[in-house]
Amino acid sequence: MVDRQILVAGAGGFIGGHLVDKLRRKGHTRIRAVDIKPFEEWYQVFDDVENHSADLGDLHACRAACEGVDDVYNLAADMGGMGFIENNRALCMITVLINTHLLMASREQDVQRFFYASSACVYNADKQTDANVTPLKEADAYPAMPEDGYGWEKLFSERMCRHFREDFGLTTRVARFHNVYGPQGTWDGGREKAPAAVCRKVIEAKTSGRNEIEIWGDGNQSRSFMFIDDCLYGIDAIMHSDIIEPINLGSSELVTINQLVDIVEEIAGIKLKRSYNLSAPKGVNGRNSDNTLIRQHLGWEPSIRLRDGMKKTYDWILEQYELTRKPALQDAVAART
Ligand code: NAD
Repeated sequence: MVDRQILVAGAGGFIGGHLVDKLRRKGHTRIRAVDIKPFEEWYQVFDDVENHSADLGDLHACRAACEGVDDVYNLAADMGGMGFIENNRALCMITVLINTHLLMASREQDVQRFFYASSACVYNADKQTDANVTPLKEADAYPAMPEDGYGWEKLFSERMCRHFREDFGLTTRVARFHNVYGPQGTWDGGREKAPAAVCRKVIEAKTSGRNEIEIWGDGNQSRSFMFIDDCLYGIDAIMHSDIIEPINLGSSELVTINQLVDIVEEIAGIKLKRSYNLSAPKGVNGRNSDNTLIRQHLGWEPSIRLRDGMKKTYDWILEQYELTRKPALQDAVAART
């Protein structure tokens, strides 16, 4: 393997952190990891990697980050679950500066390959009105009517990648991720996505003895969820493929949110009383990934079963939950003695 100089943008985040780890394990020794967050907030920090805290919305920071780099993986974005993206559209759109400046810096520095993490939120909302959704094909992004804010930014950035490839000869690869989940990601604080939020709520309900869970929407909205290991395999395969158009990277195992809660209840060994918050953000009614194209190109598609991935995710979130509760418990014990 040629030891290429690699930049992972958004390395302090969920997918970026796992990607850095995977690249290290593959034997890469020249990895630059960059994220706007201070190091103590990164999900994973590795001492054998060149770590930087920098704002990649800034062109100068992108130039420094891309210096001498062969491969760029752009996973940096100001994002979160539906609760965050429906209430922070401007912030989501400002993320356009990151991909734009990274592309400009990559062109200047003769970067060889550029990976962009897009999203299923680019798909036309009219194709996602029914929970019995027809899986979304890549062509369904047009005519454009993506998720407001976040989806528009992703669609525009995809397009920038295309035109940098066509006009400037920069090799760009774009994957449309469908709901990625797993350990070492956001599980509380308002940016968490459904799988982590459901795990946390079940843990809270069980630990507190309240035995109740609030579900956003009526629970009948359907989604597919991809475990992080499948996502990492897909990123690597797509980055090194000759797939020039944006391609779905998602599981096609469709479940309703109610079924997702069933799975987590079963893992936790509990049955909860459910209440439905119909005014909470819930996103489109149904969304699934059509994997025809990825199967054709790679002879592969994400296949880790939701139950298996959720067990690993639940166990990790339970661990984090217990760690955050420990100081509070210790304080309570100290106060009583
Ligand atoms: P994440 O929020 O955990 O990671 C994103 C990271 O980008 C964060 O650590 C954040 O601090 C960093 N960042 C934000 N602004 C920055 C800036 N100006 N400069 C440098 N770093 C900055 O999210 P994630 O789940 O790891 O997602 C990674 C990528 O995949 C994002 O582009 C996201 O839109 C995309 N994506 C994720 C999912 C999913 O389900 N997780 C689905 C579709 C698309």
